[in-house]
Amino acid sequence: MPKIDNKVFCINHPDEEMNEFDGKFIIPNTNKDDDGKFRQLSTAFIGRIYRCEICQYIELYSISDDEAAV
Ligand SMILES: [Zn+2]
Repeated sequence: MPKIDNKVFCINHPDEEMNEFDGKFIIPNTNKDDDGKFRQLSTAFIGRIYRCEICQYIELYSISDDEAAV
């Protein structure tokens, strides 16, 4: 769900503001080689985790490039 006034709301509870989870997620970037296998690159995708306290639904948002040092 898009942020509203820079706040994140639950898709199941549209009136419930989601809290930022204590921690970040990191997903390694990959590349598919000619042999059809995926190889991990040295770069990654880093972001914030928001969670609904009622249903535990989470959403992931990337952090800005100036915050990231991968
Ligand atoms: Zn919810």
